[in-house]
Amino acid sequence: MSCQLADKNIISRHDILAGVKRIVIKIGSRLLASVENGLNLELMQALIADIAKIRSQGKEVILVSSGAVLAGRTKLGLKKFGLSISLKQAAAAVGQSRLMHAYEKLFNAHDICSAQVLLTRDDLTCHRRYLNARHTIFTLLDYKVIPIINENDTVVVEEIKVGDNDNLSALVSNLAEADLLIILTDVDGLCSADPCKDKNARLIKTVKHINNDIHKLAGKERAFGTGGMISKLQAACSVTCFGIPAIIANGHRPGIISRIINADEVGTLFLAQKKQIPSRKHWIAHVLKVKGMIILDEGAKLALCKKGRSLLPSGILAVRGRFGVGDMVSCVDIDKKEIARGLTNYSSHEIDKIKGCNSSEIEMILHYKPDDEIIHRNNLVLV
Ligand code: GLU
Repeated sequence: MSCQLADKNIISRHDILAGVKRIVIKIGSRLLASVENGLNLELMQALIADIAKIRSQGKEVILVSSGAVLAGRTKLGLKKFGLSISLKQAAAAVGQSRLMHAYEKLFNAHDICSAQVLLTRDDLTCHRRYLNARHTIFTLLDYKVIPIINENDTVVVEEIKVGDNDNLSALVSNLAEADLLIILTDVDGLCSADPCKDKNARLIKTVKHINNDIHKLAGKERAFGTGGMISKLQAACSVTCFGIPAIIANGHRPGIISRIINADEVGTLFLAQKKQIPSRKHWIAHVLKVKGMIILDEGAKLALCKKGRSLLPSGILAVRGRFGVGDMVSCVDIDKKEIARGLTNYSSHEIDKIKGCNSSEIEMILHYKPDDEIIHRNNLVLV
């Protein structure tokens, strides 16, 4: 298996974790769900005691917590699966206040003040709202308050939804300039095989670089929670290429948060990348929502991946979805493997007309030509 699955720590955990001050901790629904349904208050209490402990060591904590739909669904007596969007939104409205009530009570026992912050993807893509959210979080931290963040489920429609709290926690880590992202779940971390099927599966302690081999390990989505391992890896990928390390660990293990901070060998640590992508390109690849897909031929794939070129119409085989000028689109090869993401200079309708043509023919076909490139190199990020 690839040397990227480095089980020997290249830099010691201790070195990485020693300087960590601001930590984003994501707690998922799977962890918060009790066996009888509803919130697992006992586990919440243990996690909060652990958070209180690291706070007393001078760490700043931002929580990203799911559980609104879970708590509301239980209260309304709704079934677990197959809820309509409006029922999920109603459940979130009922559950969010219950979730916060539970957190507030549990944090109060440690004399810690907490605050609710609800965000949508729109809040993070619109610069003014992004800055407002950032100021609020920084101010809360100044006042020693723990921000508890969730997606504003009741108002989001597909267009402006982050979708899962793994990705939300990554966006928040970048926004709040965190030093570490901890994603707590109900498994010990990323394993070399599916532990349910393979008794030789072992925990990967350190991942140096998230490559295709690593993505393959996430396997198919399992039918619990919203995200599964795939979205946890996406989140880890997003923060590590921005220079923030991430750890996926099991929230059921006693004292897991303080053990992580103590540099105990628990969970899977994803090392921050040395070569970080500029914040504009990070924003394109990790914050904006994919609005459509452009399918490339082999020549265009090569030009993008190996030659550092822009995307021209000649290398486009097909276009999928409806999008406008300036939207973020995903560029895939004929096997639908994603190669790059970028901001398009042409709408899906226009690309459909000029695909396969030379740039010199654009004006003749469309009767105007804003640009030679469909996606300029400066607005393109290889995936
Ligand atoms: N925002 C959802 C909730 O609070 C959870 C989304 C997720 O778990 O990823 O129920």
